[in-house]
Amino acid sequence: MTYLHRLQPGQDVNLAEMPTRGKSFYEGDKETAVTEFKAARDKLIELQNRFYAEGKRKLLIVLQAMDAGGKDGTIRNVLRGVNPQGVRVYSFKVPSKEELAHDFLWRIHQVAPPTGMIHVFNRSHYEDVLVVRVHDIVPETVWRPRYTQINQFEKLLHDTGTTILKFYLHISPEAQKERFQARLDDTSKHWKFSLEDLEKRKFWDDYMAAYEEMLEQCTTPWAPWHVIPADQKWYRNLAVTNIIVNTLQQLDPQYPTTTDDLSEVVIA
Ligand code: AMP
Ligand code: MG
Repeated sequence: MTYLHRLQPGQDVNLAEMPTRGKSFYEGDKETAVTEFKAARDKLIELQNRFYAEGKRKLLIVLQAMDAGGKDGTIRNVLRGVNPQGVRVYSFKVPSKEELAHDFLWRIHQVAPPTGMIHVFNRSHYEDVLVVRVHDIVPETVWRPRYTQINQFEKLLHDTGTTILKFYLHISPEAQKERFQARLDDTSKHWKFSLEDLEKRKFWDDYMAAYEEMLEQCTTPWAPWHVIPADQKWYRNLAVTNIIVNTLQQLDPQYPTTTDDLSEVVIA
């Protein structure tokens, strides 16, 4: 699944042609997928433990999606059971006055992962070429150079020991409608709904155009984007977990060895 959904640098992206349902990528049924997902998550837990203990490398996971695209659910499901000491989640909201007084990467760089840590971005610096572009918050002369600025920033992180994985959770407008309705129908989900979400929904096509250009411009050898079919949560969870596991397996983190000889130690 790692390479199935990974974009190649220079690749044209047409989201309307890319499936939002995982069924076409997966032979088994939902039940099999859930079993596989849980086994993959157990591997993730073990690898994260090693990664944290080793304390040498850094992993950054970026999640982007339309509203109700499943960012929160992905985090909740995929990271369940990891050692919380070694994982942090950062959610990026409308920038504060202080954040706006700095360059757009200032608030991001402050929370880039240090050694041994996995940091997950729930939204990210990519909002600055998405929502900002679609709603004309800044002019094109300001947001367009950001593709290059982002690529250079991510290169800096990469060159200083950070592995970067970026996921775009691809949902259909129909799935978004269903999920919005579910939020409206359940008072315990009202806090997740805002009238602004409906305003943004009207700009669906503009968002898709912004996402496409972002995916084309910011897929680099050092920070690849993955387009994950995300209408079906069971497939999304499985695909994202497999990609993270595969990446950690390649990094092959090792428990630190001690130079002390422990074989003769007796505890009094
Ligand atoms: P949520 O993720 O549902 O809590 O919503 C956070 C909101 O903050 C979304 O509407 C984002 O589009 C918005 N947001 C995040 N980053 C930025 C940014 N750099 N500029 C403007 N709006 C942003
Ligand atoms: Mg929201």
